[in-house]
Amino acid sequence: MTKTDSTHQPNFIRNIIEKDLKTGKYDGRVHTRFPPEPNGYLHIGHAKSICLNFTLAADYNGLCNLRFDDTNPTKEEEEYVESIKEDVRWLGFDWEEREYYASDYFDQLYAWAIKLVKDGKAYVDDLSAEEIKEYRGTLTRSGKESPYRNRSVEENLELFERMRAGDFEDGSRVLRAKIDMAHPNLNMRDPVMYRVLHATHHRTGDKWCIYPMYDFTHGQSDSIEEITHSICTLEFEDHRPLYDWFIEALGIYHPQQIEFARLNLSYTVMSKRKLMRLVAEGDVSGWDDPRMPTISGLRRRGYTPESIRDFCERIGVAKKESMVDVALLEHCLREDLNKRGPRVMGVLRPLRVIIDNYPDDQVEELEAINNPEDAQMGTRKVPFSRELYIEQDDFMEDPPKKFYRLAPGREVRLRYAYFIKCVDVVKDEKTGEVVELHCAYDPKTRGGDSPDGRKVRATLHWVSAPQALEAEVRLYDRLFDKPDPEDDKDTPDFAAHLNPNSLETLTRCRVEPSLAGAIPESRYQFERLGYFCVDRKDSSETRLIFNRTVPLRDTWAKIKKAGGM
Ligand code: ATP
Ligand code: MG
Repeated sequence: MTKTDSTHQPNFIRNIIEKDLKTGKYDGRVHTRFPPEPNGYLHIGHAKSICLNFTLAADYNGLCNLRFDDTNPTKEEEEYVESIKEDVRWLGFDWEEREYYASDYFDQLYAWAIKLVKDGKAYVDDLSAEEIKEYRGTLTRSGKESPYRNRSVEENLELFERMRAGDFEDGSRVLRAKIDMAHPNLNMRDPVMYRVLHATHHRTGDKWCIYPMYDFTHGQSDSIEEITHSICTLEFEDHRPLYDWFIEALGIYHPQQIEFARLNLSYTVMSKRKLMRLVAEGDVSGWDDPRMPTISGLRRRGYTPESIRDFCERIGVAKKESMVDVALLEHCLREDLNKRGPRVMGVLRPLRVIIDNYPDDQVEELEAINNPEDAQMGTRKVPFSRELYIEQDDFMEDPPKKFYRLAPGREVRLRYAYFIKCVDVVKDEKTGEVVELHCAYDPKTRGGDSPDGRKVRATLHWVSAPQALEAEVRLYDRLFDKPDPEDDKDTPDFAAHLNPNSLETLTRCRVEPSLAGAIPESRYQFERLGYFCVDRKDSSETRLIFNRTVPLRDTWAKIKKAGGM
């Protein structure tokens, strides 16, 4: 199991575990689980739960299971199971041989349901779904008992067996726990345990036409696996009495459920249902679209597992819901890549530069530093020649006062190369657009400094035109244009807040030749621009495609400086 390298902050879950270890509550064991429902791809919220469960287990010498909560055959697919496994592994966690499925427990759950029927603690109800809802009452109004509530054990056993045998239509009957229709907690008002559903399950096939509900599955699965601390999100707090009731009624090993606040992230929606809608409606290219908050999307965007784990550690665990600024996630990535990401030069919107006084047939190999943060990463050679590209917006013909970059008559430094001075500007006759610059270089400034102490105010990145590789660069921005796309009384549909400019594709970019054969998923800092990674799906040896992960400017560092943290 991966150990995170940062020291962990104490939190209320660690406090509970440490107390349990002291009192010997579970014989000194810590055993957690991550229980995804395979009905979509995992998102960054799940990453919080994954990191929490696996890290707690690792830190206390325990174990963490991967358990698929697959009780809903109509929504679950093998594709999701595979993607979940891939994502958990990629994040750096290992469930070893402990890959479990709630569906593996269907026989046991059925036997336990029969036990509850025999004990007079469960009954078959013929009310329709609407009637059950109606009879349930509200927070202020007590529920009403079903007319079928007092069936004999024999009749219940027979009906439940017939439910299982396929004698009844979907929705016609359910098995309910017999608890208390006047209970202040609505979950305790005779909750449904089993429903009839004639559907093929991805693992059990057509063996079952009744399926257990989440509440009758989760705690029992925890119990079977001898989980000690069953950590889940706050919406299950109200289900805890039921979790405990089933375990007590069955008289089986009793894990404890502990709830924490789910992660909410600004400029993001975080529910598989909503993410699925974006995929289905073509708002994104798929679950792993680099704009998606899915783990596979973040991965494709260029995020590192380390940065995501660091983020999950920093946000901590609390009992109260809050919204985390996505700038913190970006900050964690920049910190990681700043240390590890090799620097290269690439020009996104090329402007041709001719160095008039540079020999026509000469190519020099200049030395460039791979990472100023890490001398061990060494240096590389970048070619320099008479014809270069610089960034279009690094030149202005008529610059305003604070623009220090290239302009007619002005001298700037080309990174690792020479000082150049702009001597002429060539424009398209028709459009007036600047298409080419003519410059003069000072041979004495090789390496980037002038022996006469002359200063320049800007250093530009560049690539040598003849050797440059053409590349496509996909510039990604936030998927939504509002910090909380769901918080809008006028337009409750979050999709109304999709950012129309979340993707800009540039096809004629130029990058330095050292990037030839760059392997998919490798990550770089393009000097002065940001962090980029080779797209893991679409890039190939003949067609280099980079995704911009994040630009360099760190909004989080600013927020922090301004006292916002
Ligand atoms: P969604 O609402 O996105 O569909 P879910 O809770 O239905 O998520 P599950 O597959 O049931 O998804 O979740 C697996 C585990 O991940 C659960 O323990 C759940 O509590 C946890 N989890 C889901 N979303 C978040 C989140 N935003 N923050 C932290 N944990 C989460
Ligand atoms: Mg769920």
